[in-house]
Amino acid sequence: MATRKFAVALMPGGLRSPRHNPTTVSLVTKRGRPSRDATIDFRMMRRAYLARVHVGDVPRHDACDASVDLVFAAQHHGVQRRSACPVCSHHELRTVTYLFGPRLPKAGKCITSGRQLHEVDLRPEHFTAYAVEVCLSCRWNHLLSATPYGGRRRHNRRRARSQVAKNRQPLTASAAHH
Ligand SMILES: [Zn+2]
Repeated sequence: MATRKFAVALMPGGLRSPRHNPTTVSLVTKRGRPSRDATIDFRMMRRAYLARVHVGDVPRHDACDASVDLVFAAQHHGVQRRSACPVCSHHELRTVTYLFGPRLPKAGKCITSGRQLHEVDLRPEHFTAYAVEVCLSCRWNHLLSATPYGGRRRHNRRRARSQVAKNRQPLTASAAHH
């Protein structure tokens, strides 16, 4: 849980929203357990922040501050967006995803294919994938969502056991014929 909060603070565009517009974002369920299905949506924060950029409350250089690494990641591994940049209106918007979790770098691992997320989702450890939008033209960037992955141990075991049970029956039956 601490890792998740830490991750949000580390994310590009993750710190700025709480700083300018304090909003509590809960990444866990009421019982204090990480929720598997809950994707945290940062669109409202993004909208509020953009409104402040547009009225000049937030200087543009503060809003468009993507690091060289983030722009590089967006350029090479980002998914192109159809919509134009909300700040400069150029069609250079990309979504880049960073994965946080056990044994991954503190600043997250940049996801380069959908298969990586699928593989991680089958693992017992808990991971969080943060999607960030980045404009290659003006360097606008903001966190879009946080999605939990992994934590599948119990589910998988149960599934594996029922799979074994299913496979065993026809095998025993055919063995009896020989
Ligand atoms: Zn832009």
